[in-house]
Amino acid sequence: MKFVMPGDRLGYKEEFVAGEGVYEENGEIFAAVAGKLIVRDKVINVEPVKVIPEIERGDVVLGRVIDVRNSLALVELSRKKGLDRDLKNTGLAALHISNVQSEYLKDLNSAIRYMDIIKARVIDEKSLKLSTKEDEMGVVKSICSLCKHEMVREGNTLKCPNCGNVEKRKLSSDYGKGEW
Ligand code: ZN
Repeated sequence: MKFVMPGDRLGYKEEFVAGEGVYEENGEIFAAVAGKLIVRDKVINVEPVKVIPEIERGDVVLGRVIDVRNSLALVELSRKKGLDRDLKNTGLAALHISNVQSEYLKDLNSAIRYMDIIKARVIDEKSLKLSTKEDEMGVVKSICSLCKHEMVREGNTLKCPNCGNVEKRKLSSDYGKGEW
């Protein structure tokens, strides 16, 4: 039995058919959820399996965005609210574009970017799906994509105090407060 994590590359579209729990991008098939890899008649499925014992549905977690694809941001979880130690070996959790905000979001990069620190609600503890729809959830810390300086909040946008660059995010109401 093989376990896979969100973002793991499972195969090419020419060889396999995408089933449940996966997504296609640029001719390749990736896991969309954490779980058990099942290949049957060339159909690739990932059946969600709970892989992190500490994580329950409804938990609030903190993590770093390590990749942003077309429709999915991959998040390395580091903390869980109420647990006074770091999470270890969690693999990656997934924030789908439809779970970022209540309003329709066309471009994931206009709300979440590489290296952002986000606070999120776990909406599925097996597949490690996250949501940032609540006001309190979203980006809590971010660096300028041009000069890597820490961004400061100005209304509903972020501004770089170093180079003046302005960027948009789905901001947490706790952005920049240093707590979560
Ligand atoms: Zn900057």
